[in-house]
Amino acid sequence: MSIITDPECLFCKIVAGEVPAECLYEDDEILVFKDINPQAPFHALLIPKTHVATLNDLEEEHTKVAGRLFLTAKSLAQEHTLPGFRVVVNTNPQGGQVIFHVHMHMLAGRKMKPGLG
Ligand code: AMP
Ligand code: ZN
Repeated sequence: MSIITDPECLFCKIVAGEVPAECLYEDDEILVFKDINPQAPFHALLIPKTHVATLNDLEEEHTKVAGRLFLTAKSLAQEHTLPGFRVVVNTNPQGGQVIFHVHMHMLAGRKMKPGLG
């Protein structure tokens, strides 16, 4: 998978080190950093380093990196001793997406109600 960068994209700028972020994990394909406006005691954003605007823009070539986002969430939960967590991928404005570089929210550290409460 080749890494594509959009110079106008905030999260691409974070990947490039042009905008600071509190990094929790990095490898050649994935970056994880703390959300600047946390909605839970633990709130991380897991992103592919390559620029993909929304979940709807994922293609076959992204299958591996998309799967690895889930495995990275699992690793973070172990590393930070999180007994449970929630992951969310907002998609398009109607789905609450504000930053158009696909990202997985990982929320933990407070009791989540069953369902989406
Ligand atoms: P979404 O609504 O799913 O697009 O979520 C975008 C998330 O990015 C929000 O939770 C913001 O708080 C977060 N965010 C925006 N700017 C930054 C930044 N510079 N560093 C870290 N998180 C950010
Ligand atoms: Zn981007």
